[in-house]
Amino acid sequence: MNSFIRILAGSLAVAGLSVSVPKASAPTDLEQKIQTPSLDLSHAVAVRDVAIELGGGALEVEEGVLVPASPISGRVMEVVFVGKALFRLTPPDDVEAQQLEVFTQQTTLEAGIEGAVFTIGNASIMDRLLSRSPATPDSTTQARARELFDGWVRGSERRVFGVDAAIWRALSADPLSQGYFASFFQSVDLGNFCLVLEPWENDQLTVGRFVPREMDDREKRLSERDLRIARKEGRFLQLRLDDFGDFDTWMRMPLRDGAGRPTPGSSNFEPKHYDLEANLDPKALTIDGKATLHLTAMREGSRVVALSLFRDLIPSSIRDGAGKELAWYRSGFTLSVMLADPVRMNESLTLEIAYQGVIFDEIGADFFALRTTQSWYPHTGTTDRATYKLTLRWPKKYELMASGKVLESRLENKEQVEIRTLEVPADFVSFEIGDFDLVEEQVGHVRVTVAFNRGFGTVAKGVEQEVVDTLKAALQFYEEKFGAYPLDYLTVVTIPRGFSQGFLGFLTLADDLLYLRSPFAPGPGVENSSSRMRMETVAHELAHQWWGNLVGWKSYRDQWLSEALAHYSAVLYLQSKSDRQSVYLAEHAKDWKRWLRQTTLDGRTLESLGPLVMGERLNSSLSESAYQAVVYGKGPLAFSMLSRAVGQDQLTLMLKNLVKALSNRPIDTETFLAAIEKMGSVNLSSFSKQFVYGTGIPEIYYSFEFRESGDGRWEVQGEARQTFMPHYDYRLIQKQGGWDLTRVPSHDSQPSDWTLLVPFQVILDAGGEGTVSPKQSNYQTARGLGGTLKVSGRSTPFTFKIDRKPLDFWLDQRGEVLAYFFCSSREPKRALRYMAAEGPDAESEAMYKKALQAELLSGKALEDADLSSRDLKRESNLEDARIYFGLARWYLDHSRIEDSRRALNSGEDLIRASDGKFWQDEREALDSRLNLLQGEYKETYARLNRELQMYFPVKTGEHASAGWRRSQWRTGRIGDAEDYAMLAVAAFETSHMEVAQLAAKYAEERGADMTALKQLLSASKAE
Ligand SMILES: [Zn+2]
Repeated sequence: MNSFIRILAGSLAVAGLSVSVPKASAPTDLEQKIQTPSLDLSHAVAVRDVAIELGGGALEVEEGVLVPASPISGRVMEVVFVGKALFRLTPPDDVEAQQLEVFTQQTTLEAGIEGAVFTIGNASIMDRLLSRSPATPDSTTQARARELFDGWVRGSERRVFGVDAAIWRALSADPLSQGYFASFFQSVDLGNFCLVLEPWENDQLTVGRFVPREMDDREKRLSERDLRIARKEGRFLQLRLDDFGDFDTWMRMPLRDGAGRPTPGSSNFEPKHYDLEANLDPKALTIDGKATLHLTAMREGSRVVALSLFRDLIPSSIRDGAGKELAWYRSGFTLSVMLADPVRMNESLTLEIAYQGVIFDEIGADFFALRTTQSWYPHTGTTDRATYKLTLRWPKKYELMASGKVLESRLENKEQVEIRTLEVPADFVSFEIGDFDLVEEQVGHVRVTVAFNRGFGTVAKGVEQEVVDTLKAALQFYEEKFGAYPLDYLTVVTIPRGFSQGFLGFLTLADDLLYLRSPFAPGPGVENSSSRMRMETVAHELAHQWWGNLVGWKSYRDQWLSEALAHYSAVLYLQSKSDRQSVYLAEHAKDWKRWLRQTTLDGRTLESLGPLVMGERLNSSLSESAYQAVVYGKGPLAFSMLSRAVGQDQLTLMLKNLVKALSNRPIDTETFLAAIEKMGSVNLSSFSKQFVYGTGIPEIYYSFEFRESGDGRWEVQGEARQTFMPHYDYRLIQKQGGWDLTRVPSHDSQPSDWTLLVPFQVILDAGGEGTVSPKQSNYQTARGLGGTLKVSGRSTPFTFKIDRKPLDFWLDQRGEVLAYFFCSSREPKRALRYMAAEGPDAESEAMYKKALQAELLSGKALEDADLSSRDLKRESNLEDARIYFGLARWYLDHSRIEDSRRALNSGEDLIRASDGKFWQDEREALDSRLNLLQGEYKETYARLNRELQMYFPVKTGEHASAGWRRSQWRTGRIGDAEDYAMLAVAAFETSHMEVAQLAAKYAEERGADMTALKQLLSASKAE
């Protein structure tokens, strides 16, 4: 490597940039040049032995050519690379390394590059890059360059990342935008991926891939038609079919200064005040708006205001405070506006934006919902907290509920006009229009107005009353716990939409929660669950007045704080109202356990996709519900453990102090945790490492026994063992006379560096106080002697001395701890089986055999179960069958075929005819695996054909037999990686090639390594 150039935002000097401003060219001409650029092959240059530094990573070019795009307004903005290079980027920390691993199976990004397109905001860097000796690429290279560039210009990434808008901003001579950089890589190892540096973002640097939604020809045709119809109605105006998809963020990080400290980016302007005028026409579903933004310049010399506005709202005119018409550029949600002159730091300026478009969805007759609650007016700013004035005008036959306090209300012809203000800085204002039942009440200093939407008919009075009562009581509760609510009014609207929201002073509640009905009358001692859900939602949304509004969150990494705190507050409130406070959490534990254990196609749990601080990045092409599961399932649990660590009352007090100290400003996760550590004099390093920045939920297997100690007292002795559920990597291998599918457990977390504070309960014998009958209800917890046990590493032995005879012992009886608990003293057989399956591999065989000898239930659990000896025998046999199947699998993994067949048969023998379907999937999977190993394919194919479901894509002009094949595979169950891998092999060996192709694809999507078969499949295709 003999030359070195740098492409990095940090190295930019603002002064002295010679940037031509696109004043001369008409906007449409410029827009066209930006959107459909062309390549300039006559100016190609040769590159050899160059290292290009890209945001902390490096592109090492061995050799190749660079072909510039034709200049726009005198500047070259994009350049194509064709050749041979290597791109390397090391993640900045463990969290980003884990994310990279989830998407690429690499912990350091290293990819061979054969082609790339660079978009470079900095003119001098582009000049230096292109100042090399001219090259005359051969026709193959020319064709490659053209193909690459055309694909980039026509493809989704350039639009999805807003590259066109960034080019426009750079051409507008905006200093910050000169630091923009984007790179689209074609990699041999990793396929296509992008690296984008956006100087105005908190985390400026993003590496990842856009994954378009997979559609076959038929789905494409239908979607195209839907889009055409929608466009005629003024919807999805700027969307193309290719733009539908997910973005997988492999890594995202702030730039760093010379000393390695992060230097997060920020926007050019912050708003002080929004003056919003809107004419609403629900019949036409439109808004005609004028937004006047009062802004402060956050840096010297800025030329561009970057706004976001709902993509179907189209600006008609944008002017500055002097009334001068300004140039602007629209791309997706972003609206970029060029100022007439550069501004000074801290200078105030005004922007007036007129815009129109379709803003409502009609849900029923005269019954509407906003298509966007946040982006119905243009926003700017990184913090974006401002005061508001709203002037809203609408047909008087409707009612309108909105943010802010009414200053003036009048009728003009057939229109209602209302002027409102919100004088406490807030991040959003919104409104809803329709037909409502109003309830108004005074709660202390707050006038509470609740508007029940009449769209779906009237709501039961009892339900309305419950919502109002919850609002009133929770408002008082939160004011007492967390400090005063900042306004003297609160408006609450129910609305037919899938989500609820809590803006400052304005709550919207998804109205389906009003129609929730319990299918069963609640049993004695159990609360009505739909009523509980309703109160929980109301209390959660109200709590956002404190968490989200008074205490804001800085970036997507901190959003979990606001959600988890809102939920924690709601639980505190409901606990205080519940007559069975102590069991409230236990009722919840079931939900989060189920939620977090759901798996993706490739068998990873949703929880393992990323930690709390990944926020919205948790949703990706791998899962569309991981954000919900992690933030709403794990987040509140993290807070209940925090409250256990520092004490509930103390935590509440700290939160109150935090509200006071921050009052209307955002906070980040690090500052929040540091504040709690300081106020509570606690060390939260292992807590945050495990639950905030880490993934993994430990499994705790515990056993105990009671023993009389010599001194007339009693002893509880036991052990808690900690393990983690592994996920499995499958690999297909061709063997002598058959095929094997190996399965290797992969452990994402290690128990050795994990510590938990676990509450325990010793249930005492008689003597009146402390004991309750164990079978009162499902959720009933017994009282007794309690404490906290510190569980760390693989094994934690424990002993407690007590004065009275113990009856029973529990770890985490109420489900407060983020861990799964199994008691081997209560259910020895099952606990041993789990430990055999998930513990250290070397101990598995012995552990399974021990499980066969163990009892199904013992001690108190046996008494409580109250089973007849016949039923007990049957249950025990079935559990033994599971153990044999586990053993059969373990033998298979260790190439002990005969032992495996024997174990499988022993298991089968234990299953009675009436239990024929018991564990059928597992039994058939084992059978199939054994068959494939021995080269018996026909039976396996027939069985899996009957059993599994696949979807054959529709191709235009396909053969008639394709329809028959599709219908044949339409029913059955969705399998896992192993199922489809085995089907692929069986289909291949029985010459069902199209089935083999698709099954191999399904198996790969589920994480199996199918290389061995795919080589044979492509060879057979070539013949
Ligand atoms: Zn929320």
